[in-house]
Amino acid sequence: MNDKIIYFDNAATTQMKEEVLEEMLPFLKEKYGNASTIYSLGRESKKYIEEAREKIANSIFAKSKEIFFTGSGTESDNWAIKGIAYANKNKGNHIITTSIEHHAVLNTCQELEKNGFEVTYLPVNENGLITKEQVKNAIKPNTILISIMFANNEIGTIQPINEIGKIARENKIFFHTDAVQAMGNIPINVNEMSIDLLSMSAHKFYGPKGIGALYIRTGIKISSFIQGGAQERGKRAGTENTANIVGFGKAIELATLNIEQNNKKLLDLRDRTIEEITKKIPFIKLNGDRQKRLPGNVNISFEFIEGESILLMLDMKGIAASSGSACTSGSLDPSHVLLEIGLPHEIAHGSLRITFGNNNTHEEVDYLMDVLPDIVAKLREMSPLYENVKKEKRYV
Ligand code: PLP
Repeated sequence: MNDKIIYFDNAATTQMKEEVLEEMLPFLKEKYGNASTIYSLGRESKKYIEEAREKIANSIFAKSKEIFFTGSGTESDNWAIKGIAYANKNKGNHIITTSIEHHAVLNTCQELEKNGFEVTYLPVNENGLITKEQVKNAIKPNTILISIMFANNEIGTIQPINEIGKIARENKIFFHTDAVQAMGNIPINVNEMSIDLLSMSAHKFYGPKGIGALYIRTGIKISSFIQGGAQERGKRAGTENTANIVGFGKAIELATLNIEQNNKKLLDLRDRTIEEITKKIPFIKLNGDRQKRLPGNVNISFEFIEGESILLMLDMKGIAASSGSACTSGSLDPSHVLLEIGLPHEIAHGSLRITFGNNNTHEEVDYLMDVLPDIVAKLREMSPLYENVKKEKRYV
């Protein structure tokens, strides 16, 4: 089992599907025409870009002309929030978001605060969820945008998007959702969910990296994000990345087609892993709501030890996973999401995120469960915190 990597970090990125690569290759080779040109080589690129746009639109029940390509999910988030803020500042300067958003949203909101905007960061409960009442109560006469993530990248919690959309619509406030983790995993209908803007990124559902899109409902007033040529109907300049766009289209087509079957598989792997860890390892805590979470997400804190140490030891056993204590900002602070759900620093530091994808198998979970209890036990034996617990006889 040790000769190949067991990849349990599908929330970070996914392995591109062979079929996606096959569709992309001609556009990296002989079909290299610039989509903005009028000769046939360029027109062919344009045609395939429009086909991809249509597939993406269909997957969320939008119209093709409402899909705008970007360079990443991060860019889509930046554009949605700044674009709405700057284009509508005559109406108001207040934005509502949550405290557990991805940094693509949080840092964008903080940047806007420096420029005269006011942002409410709604706190979440211990399961990582907000309520529609919180959103309703946060609305002020100057609120112009509600930006709330569909599903969290760390603890997998799925927010009540339908209800939030309804409130936004009733109050005539724009509603943006960062659906980077949800897209391809959860069925999305922008009409039923009253979503006005939605961010997506292809590398999270077996497509290429460096290509995202923003859904912008027709009639929404938003400023363009990158100035230059007339690409993307003058809203997002820059020569189209044809190969990546075509790959994006194929990836979402496959994900949408297989969504139910994949969900079933992921749920099975997720629930078995949670059950087994709970059964075999003491002093643990599942982070995020047990039910309202992404089908492939497991996030568990192991008391008395460091998530980073678990990761290194798993890596030595050929397993790639993630921890909630990655020092993203160069400091050793644990993840803001884990702190926001109320975990004390030392427990947040001991967290492990396992995110399953289409390629994972039950045998891989068996292997994880062969090695993980031992790794945790070994690390705990070296932990002065655990030493104290043993002295106090808190363990069995
Ligand atoms: N939003 C969420 C919820 C994410 O999980 C990510 C990526 O991890 C992003 C935004 C950023 O997407 P990208 O990697 O395409 O910039």
